[in-house]
Amino acid sequence: MKLARSLLPLFRTKPTSFLRPVYASVSQWTGQEPLEKDDPEIFDLIRKEKKRQVAGLELIASENFASRAALEPMATCLNNKYSEGYPGQRYYAGNWYIDEIETLCQKRALAAFRLDASKWGVNVQTYSGCPANFAVYTGILKPHDRIMGLDLPHGGHLSHGYMTETKRVSATSVYFESMPYRLNVETGLIDYETLRQNSKLFKPKIIVAGTSAYSRLIDYKQMREICDDVNAYLMCDIAHISGLMAGNVIPSAFDYADIVTTTTHKTLRGPRAGLIFYRVGVKGKDKKGADIMYNLERPINSAVFPGLQGGPHNHCIAGVAVALRQAASPMFHEYQKQILTNAKALGKCLIDLGYTIVSGGTDTHLVLVDLKPIGFDGSRGEFVLEQCAITVNKNTTPGDKSAFNPSGLRLGVPALTSRNFKEPDMEKVVEFIHRAIQLGKDVQKKTKTLKDYKEFLMEDEETKKRLESLKKDVEEFSCQFPMPGFDER
Ligand SMILES: *Cc1c(COP(=O)(O)O)cnc(C)c1O
Repeated sequence: MKLARSLLPLFRTKPTSFLRPVYASVSQWTGQEPLEKDDPEIFDLIRKEKKRQVAGLELIASENFASRAALEPMATCLNNKYSEGYPGQRYYAGNWYIDEIETLCQKRALAAFRLDASKWGVNVQTYSGCPANFAVYTGILKPHDRIMGLDLPHGGHLSHGYMTETKRVSATSVYFESMPYRLNVETGLIDYETLRQNSKLFKPKIIVAGTSAYSRLIDYKQMREICDDVNAYLMCDIAHISGLMAGNVIPSAFDYADIVTTTTHKTLRGPRAGLIFYRVGVKGKDKKGADIMYNLERPINSAVFPGLQGGPHNHCIAGVAVALRQAASPMFHEYQKQILTNAKALGKCLIDLGYTIVSGGTDTHLVLVDLKPIGFDGSRGEFVLEQCAITVNKNTTPGDKSAFNPSGLRLGVPALTSRNFKEPDMEKVVEFIHRAIQLGKDVQKKTKTLKDYKEFLMEDEETKKRLESLKKDVEEFSCQFPMPGFDER
């Protein structure tokens, strides 16, 4: 009763959108009405979001524009099917075609990374990157076993065991014990030596080699040696760079890893999901010369189902299969090459304008800009850029004390590269970024707190005019480029 009363104001403010009947009776409800007619409210919001994506400059490093073919299976009847279990061993009837789709997806996943099925297996059912990582831990660790991962403020990911001094933030750090490794603050590169020393003291069962905000390549060979010294599994989380690896433009983690996890929607350019690759077959020899076998397949697969998940999202698995087939093509190699070229061009243009780049450059799809040297910061930078249709992430840079007041920006090029941006376009992009940051700096001088800064940007007439004119330039520029995956309407 109490709850019902507290909900009443909700209905009062927007009665029509909740209660307006779409169909006069259930017999008229064929389920064949298009979204535009059935639910104009959601339709309209999607239309607006499409417009935003087309008109803006998308520089969020983890984002991309999937192809129409990869998106299409997600709005199909595959959404309707339950298929708990694995191909050939389902807990539901009627899965002939679903089995074929999942098996095909597995084959294509191995093919995309040029893997031998006698050495690697893959689980394609995890819903996304975090669930994939958690499934690996669940499968091969006992509660409170130890993990080492790159610290979040140093470019690692939440799901690698993130905790602060006062709080175990990621569930990974609640159910398992984690100890971070970090960057060398001088070079901005992973501090392998300290990791080596600490791993000998901490004795982790898994070391995670993976990053979300790091522009250099990981030395997987060295990671392997560190793991071998302490008898730990090497898990490579290639979420950000799996497209670059599939496209064969950066060295493969598979040469050294025991387990590789990835998302499918970042540089890989598919629907949102996760993949877990695990070694199968012979691991090595024991003292008597007998084979030691990998024992990863069963624990990992049973952690995904029935351990953590129920029915697989078959519509996504089919979309991922489409993206993985694309990822094995020569065209995809060209696309990934262009990502590297664009990221380098972006970095160079920024340096030419006097910006500081963490680690001095990039080997991947992203660039980390340190705004401290110009007396600016990530929160103010992200906000002013957002106001003129340029989306980026604020990001900590090595040496930052707090993750709440980060000094830098993370800029990634995969999405723009999917829209056919080339090197000269990167120059133009940097010009827009520079104009926005100049504007932000002017406002910073006139205000004190971040709140004042934001209010001034939104309310001061002259500033608003400058913002509007910059936004117009950005949008006119962006709209010239093609948009993969969807019609603009
Ligand atoms: C993005 C990312 C993930 C998590 O992916 P979600 O799909 O957002 O759960 C995991 N690891 C790394 C390194 C990532 O960058």
